[in-house]
Amino acid sequence: MQIEELKLRMHEQSEHDSSFVDFVEDLLKTERLDGKAVMGIGKKIVSDGVKSLSANQLETFIKYGLYPYNYIEECENCGSSIPWAEMLFALDDSYCDECRYKLEKK
Ligand SMILES: [Zn+2]
Repeated sequence: MQIEELKLRMHEQSEHDSSFVDFVEDLLKTERLDGKAVMGIGKKIVSDGVKSLSANQLETFIKYGLYPYNYIEECENCGSSIPWAEMLFALDDSYCDECRYKLEKK
């Protein structure tokens, strides 16, 4: 588990696009977040952004929101890191979009 790296990834991404926030919104919609605290932080991310979180909230969300079931570090097939935009689908099969497409074609 690389918490520091993940923090960076959450921040970086949210400055350029909304894919992380969209992902969190999907986690809430599909009821993949468990526990009041984690759900509350998820809602805060959706409404106010990653930057609104305290260091503590950020860490709690990573430890209990993303891990261990809602984060895939890298594609099982090609080893590239999974973009937030592809994360929800990757949770099911651990593949990036490109590999899933290739594997499904066979
Ligand atoms: Zn891949």
